[in-house]
Formats: sequence, C-alpha cells, structure tokens
Amino acid sequence: MGCTSALVLAARGAEVVVLERAVPGAEASSAAAGILGAQVELHGRGDDAGLLVRARDGWKAWADTLREASGVDVGHRVSGVLRVARTEAERVEIGRDAAWQAGLGLRAALLDAASAREIEPELARDVVAAVHFPDDAQVDPPALLRALMASLARSARVTVRAGATVQRLLVEGDRCVGVALDDGTLRSDAIVLAAGSWSSLVPGVPESLPAVRPVRGQMVLLEERPPRVRSIVFGARAYVVPRGDGRVLCGSTMEQAGYRREVTAAGVHAILDGALACVPSLGGAQLAGSWSNFRPHVEGRGALVGASPLPGLFLATGHHRNGILLSKQTADAVADAVLGLTL
Ligand SMILES: Cc1cc2nc3c(=O)[nH]c(=O)nc-3n(C[C@H](O)[C@H](O)[C@H](O)COP(=O)(O)OP(=O)(O)OC[C@H]3O[C@@H](n4cnc5c(N)ncnc54)[C@H](O)[C@@H]3O)c2cc1C
Repeated sequence: MGCTSALVLAARGAEVVVLERAVPGAEASSAAAGILGAQVELHGRGDDAGLLVRARDGWKAWADTLREASGVDVGHRVSGVLRVARTEAERVEIGRDAAWQAGLGLRAALLDAASAREIEPELARDVVAAVHFPDDAQVDPPALLRALMASLARSARVTVRAGATVQRLLVEGDRCVGVALDDGTLRSDAIVLAAGSWSSLVPGVPESLPAVRPVRGQMVLLEERPPRVRSIVFGARAYVVPRGDGRVLCGSTMEQAGYRREVTAAGVHAILDGALACVPSLGGAQLAGSWSNFRPHVEGRGALVGASPLPGLFLATGHHRNGILLSKQTADAVADAVLGLTL
C-alpha cells in the first residue's frame, strides 16, 4: 500500500518519502499468494462486486506500466480460478454462487466434473463440479515488490528510507503535521498510514479509528517437475496457485495468533491436506518453502482508505485477504484524497 501509493502520488506531482522500518515488502505484501480473485473472493457481497472486479480488470494496464517503468515482469496472468465441489452440499453452494454472479453480469459457469477436468486435468477423481471464474487472475508478489522498488528508485520525486521506524505521529492543534523517527522528525502536508497489521500500534493514530488486527496466514511452496497444474484451484479448505513454471503455492490458514510469525505443523498439515484433496498429483511435488505473515483485518468492515478523522492523516490499510488485488485502486483513491485536500 505504501509503495504503490508513493508511486501514484509521485506520478501526479507530489514529493514523497516512504518510511519503512525494515525493507519495503518485508511483511504481508511479499507473503501473499497474489491471487487477483475478485470473483472467487466475493462470497455473496454484492456491494463489493464493482470495486473488486474493477480492481482486477485494471491489473493488466498496471502490470504493463510497472514493466515499462522498472523492467520487471510482475507475473500478471489471467489464469482463471476453479472453485471445486467434492460433495453434493458443496455443489449446491457453488451452484448458488455461480447463478448469483451470472445475475450480476459476471462470467461464472457451473461445470460438471468432466468439463472442469478439461480445464484442469489434475483435479481429484471425487470432484463432482466446479465453478469457473475465467477472468480471475494472479501476480507474483515478490516480483511485484521488486517492480515497485525499482520504479520508486527511478522516480526523482520519491525517497525510500528503509530501516526508518515511525515512532509516533506528530499532531499540532487538530492536525497531523508529520512523524517522529528514531533520528528526528519529518514534517509533511500529508501522512499516509500504510503500516499493514501494525497500523493501530502507531502512537498518535486516532482512537476513533477501527482497530486493524493481524490474521495470520501460512503458505507452503511446492515445486513440480515438470509443471502439471494449470489453473488456480480453490477447495473448501485450501487453494492451489500454479505459477506456470513449476512453482505451486498452497495456502492458507486464517489464525488469530498475534504477531507470531511461525509456520506450524498443524498449519502445514491443514494446507497440504486441503490442497492434495483437490489436486492429488501434488503429492509428488518437492517441498520448496514455507512462511507466514499477517493480513491486516478490520473487524466487521472493509479496508480503511482515504481521509481520516484527523486532518493531514490519510489511510491505506486494513485490506485483509485482498490487499494485492486492491493496491492500485487504493493508491488512486489515496492520491485523490491527498491531492484534492492538500495541494
Ligand atoms: C498468507 C497470505 C496470503 C495472501 N494472499 C493474498 C492474495 O492472494 N491476494 C491478495 O490480494 N491479497 C493477499 N493477501 C493479503 C495481502 O498480502 C495484504 O492485504 C497486503 O499485502 C497488505 O499490504 P500492506 O501494505 O497494508 O501491509 P504490509 O505488506 O504488511 O506492509 C506494511 C509495512 O509497514 C511496515 N511498518 C509497520 N509499522 C511501521 C512503523 N511504525 N514504521 C515504519 N514501518 C512500519 C512493515 O514493516 C511493513 O513492511 C495475503 C496475505 C497473507 C498473509
């Protein structure tokens, strides 16, 4: 959120300093699966459909812009998503979702097992049906962070300060005027709070803002030689994201575990059990890595974006499961708010 907002703000003429306590992308944004799952993530929330679908459909142009600016390919692929059913109850549930989404004018087809297997031959024998969302897509988050960093480095209007921890917001009168760092203060017309799962921990953030809390997600990386799985597959308990080059990400858990950045036996077991139930041939893949990080979650509502109750402070946080999908959309909204109000 911070890097994308900085890039968009700079492109629109602002001078920007990115403050990051570690290195940009050290936390959730590099840990994500990178699914641009506007439709598979809808879950009946009609109000969000337009926002999520616009965000997803804007990614092709944004990926092109980043490649031109940085030379880095962020791995944008419209690989589609198959949400599979392995029981009759799951078939009814996904069928209802497909009909609802088709009613919104979105492409979502309920397929029988044979048709689903034409799209993804590696599906388990007990898959009875699937919904195909052909327009859902993916990017490769570590590549995205490299592209953002390289683009920021080439922008004359942006300074990136890695290792700079914001100790607190500076508030004068009723206005946020800057931040306190370890080695002094930095004043600015506008401050964008983009501290992910740590956003509520920054001293000076208004108490009236809804709290952002961490929801831990664990990931397992497999490597298939040669690559076999083609589509992103969502099962009831796990998802499978093939990158197309043999890497297959499997995720993820949803845990209240504070800020404990751990990969647990139970987490890995649940992910691989759910993934192999959908795509059994992954049982022969190599275990290539595992990690966990924290989705910034705001209980009972969506992300916090735009102006805050404290003049001078703007928000780009709380995107939970869809922060990669919504990053450019959020940056545009933040830039509108910041430039509209301060310049
Ligand atoms: C396992 C997992 C899988 C996911 N999969 C997907 C997916 O497939 N698709 C999708 O769209 N989203 C996905 N997400 C969600 C997505 O990763 C997040 O919503 C998004 O990355 C949040 O971005 P952010 O910039 O708000 O937070 P972060 O990337 O966590 O960045 C916040 C940054 O703020 C820094 N910071 C914190 N406090 C301070 C301070 N006081 N001073 C200076 N710096 C500070 C941190 O070091 C950190 O680098 C996933 C998340 C997880 C954990």
